[in-house]
Amino acid sequence: MPYESDLALSLSPYVAGEQPKGQTFIKLNTNENPYPPSPRVAEALSRLADSLRLYPDTDATRLREAIAKVNGIGPDMVFCGNGSDEVLAFAFAAFFAGKRLLAPDVTYSFYPVYSQLFGVEYETVPLREDFTVDTEGLMQGAPVALANPNAPTGIMLPIPEIRRLAEHCRANGAVLLVDEAYAAFAPENALPLLAEFDNLLIVRTFSKSHALAGMRVGYALGQPALIDALRRVRDSFNSYPTDRLAQAAAEAAVLDTAYTDEAVRRVVAARDKCRAALLAAGIEVLPSATNFLFVRAGKEDAAPVQQALRNEGILVRHFTAPRLKPWLRVTVGTEEDMEKVTEALIRLITTERGII
Ligand code: PMP
Repeated sequence: MPYESDLALSLSPYVAGEQPKGQTFIKLNTNENPYPPSPRVAEALSRLADSLRLYPDTDATRLREAIAKVNGIGPDMVFCGNGSDEVLAFAFAAFFAGKRLLAPDVTYSFYPVYSQLFGVEYETVPLREDFTVDTEGLMQGAPVALANPNAPTGIMLPIPEIRRLAEHCRANGAVLLVDEAYAAFAPENALPLLAEFDNLLIVRTFSKSHALAGMRVGYALGQPALIDALRRVRDSFNSYPTDRLAQAAAEAAVLDTAYTDEAVRRVVAARDKCRAALLAAGIEVLPSATNFLFVRAGKEDAAPVQQALRNEGILVRHFTAPRLKPWLRVTVGTEEDMEKVTEALIRLITTERGII
């Protein structure tokens, strides 16, 4: 008899992007922000050491109030957790456990993993030929989870489509979970729908737009009944998912909107410049509303180009699912990083295409 439970034996865990040790790379493989967090974060952290003997506020009240203020909603509509990964896990347990759940076939690859862990009947609906989400296909009377903008495609489903999905789900007593990890880089988001839909849960992160991936803070926005359900799951698992440092850092970061807006503006400008240059060179790049670009880097398999980039000191992400195999996901870095990766991609892909 194995020591592990049947559940542990059955899991196929999520594989995170590489965090290299030693060698310095231009790191464009995990969608981190190339700029440091707001200087107010360091200030906030420097005052905290003595208070670490005390447990943190389980409800992250000050952070929730700050997030609520910036988003123009009440603090009772905000839930904070240890990275949006944890908030998503709580949401899967709170709203989908034991149910059928629909999601696009190409989306954040943690969703099927949570589904396995929490006994969710996870069913996928293929993206359309052009990699856009098939809204109609997702309307099957079951709850829906999707990333918007989507990952790793970068494509944004327009908010009127999110509204149609929310209406359909509500009519069927189902939650619509919209993972807005990348929405800060997009022209619009689902926030305006929150007042209208008691079944809409928006999940966001401090890891990308606020440059706090190393701190682990994510949050959910929704009507108070949904937030209460997340709290019940949290308190059945870990009463203190966000520590004192994380709460203070995220509060300082979220209130410094001018700093974040400027970092986001620079990333978006570098993204659009890189995409234009790749398109001009005849390379396929999906339209992106995120801080990454999805670039076609091979006829059938982009792995050789990924490896060649690595040899030149540039890390990007490659997925092996059949439909994603010819593509690379390239995080948008500084202007300088992007000049280097744009040149390298054009050279390698053009050569690669010549070879194939
Ligand atoms: N959602 C999506 C779509 C993501 O790409 C990521 C980043 N891997 C996350 C959620 C999780 O981000 P974090 O846990 O750092 O908040």
